Amino acid sequence: MKKKLLFIGPPGAGKGTQAKLFCTKYGLEHLSTGDLLRDEVSSGSVLGRKASEVMNKGELVSDELVLSIVESRLVNIKQGWLLDGFPRNVNQANSLQNLLKKIDQPLEAVISIQISDNYLIKRLLARGREDDNEEVIANRLQIYRDKTSPLVDLYRKQGILVGIDGNADIDVVFSCIEKALG
Ligand code: ADP
Repeated sequence: MKKKLLFIGPPGAGKGTQAKLFCTKYGLEHLSTGDLLRDEVSSGSVLGRKASEVMNKGELVSDELVLSIVESRLVNIKQGWLLDGFPRNVNQANSLQNLLKKIDQPLEAVISIQISDNYLIKRLLARGREDDNEEVIANRLQIYRDKTSPLVDLYRKQGILVGIDGNADIDVVFSCIEKALG
């Protein structure tokens, strides 16, 4: 089973759900930048307050902040890891590549979860997180298309991309992912 992974997909694609299941079953560290940022927000720190304003508009927090969060965790992991929510733009992807080179742990596979737009919006509205209202969702989808989706091509060119159909039940999607990484 591959152990240095990245899950990529639009908000609402089910990345987080699948990533959690996968990490629990295979003992990997789940590095979700969204979760880590929300922890920072709940801690009430100055950094967290700044991040929360940006997140509630559906925009991206600064590349430096997410990179430092990821870097500080990644260097201490021995058993394998799964990145979820990072990188989200080309600059972050380049920083990640440099970091992984430095620690000599290349990415083994990128899972791209694809899902139709009407499904996405339904799922996000049902979830009802603070950044899950219609206006903010539209902004997050636009940012995904503009900034994040070009990374799918980049990883395809590197030959490590696997496309997964996310328009199915959780367990069905999960077994597709297991098959792809086995
Ligand atoms: P979703 O997968 O539903 O888009 P996440 O929980 O991954 O939600 O992220 C929520 C918010 O956290 C994003 O809209 C963004 O503001 C911020 N965020 C998370 N990861 C990053 C990142 N790599 N770069 C910049 N901002 C990020």
